[in-house]
Amino acid sequence: MTRELDWRTRAGRMVSSLGTLDPRVAQAMREVPRHEFVPVALASAAYEDTPLPLPAGDATISAPHMVALQLEWAELAPGLRVLEVGSGCGYLAALVAQLTAPEGTVDGVELVPALPHEARRRVERLGFADRVRFIEGDGSDRVGERGPYDRIIVSCATRQLFPLWLRHLAPHGTVVAPVGDAWGQELVRYREDDPLGPLDRGPRCAFVPLRRALSPDI
Ligand code: SAH
Repeated sequence: MTRELDWRTRAGRMVSSLGTLDPRVAQAMREVPRHEFVPVALASAAYEDTPLPLPAGDATISAPHMVALQLEWAELAPGLRVLEVGSGCGYLAALVAQLTAPEGTVDGVELVPALPHEARRRVERLGFADRVRFIEGDGSDRVGERGPYDRIIVSCATRQLFPLWLRHLAPHGTVVAPVGDAWGQELVRYREDDPLGPLDRGPRCAFVPLRRALSPDI
């Protein structure tokens, strides 16, 4: 009970420290326990606004303010079908599940083999397992089975929006991705049917690079 109060209090404080957020995003971040997704040794830092190392690979779990930005840009709503490229520890995917409940689905594709397995165990524990699936693979090369997707959220830095993603995008769907090189990217939202133009350019960001199965893409 004390532990429960403790993480909820810390999650609430962290969310308040992030400034004005979309209220639904803020609520989801108060409800999904980030400490369940970080390595046990780092659980005490789970509610600080900082990236944390993943237990496998050389990647990190994005800082909460960046996760909040990705979620706000994705404009999630109940029932949407979502693909995440680079699902890592599964934290963003769990938040997406919360924001698309009760019927939305999330397919996460992750290159580092140990990570989807661990992410699956976590969402099972949290009761999201029927709506969130984690798949091992190169997300520039494969997607999940529950497309076409209303939203594609890319969580690793990419030079391009791969044709594969656009082919699996549902009508009126959007792709949110950090586009740039290894030194920095800008968050981009692609919406093919937007009368103002397909691309919305957002803030600068720094994600780990998308790697092709054999070599870094950027
Ligand atoms: N939202 C994730 C962020 C993980 S960091 C989270 O909450 O944990 C980005 C992830 O992208 C890393 O786990 C990295 O291994 C993965 N990645 C890099 N290139 C990839 C590719 N081609 N396909 C799938 N995942 C990739």
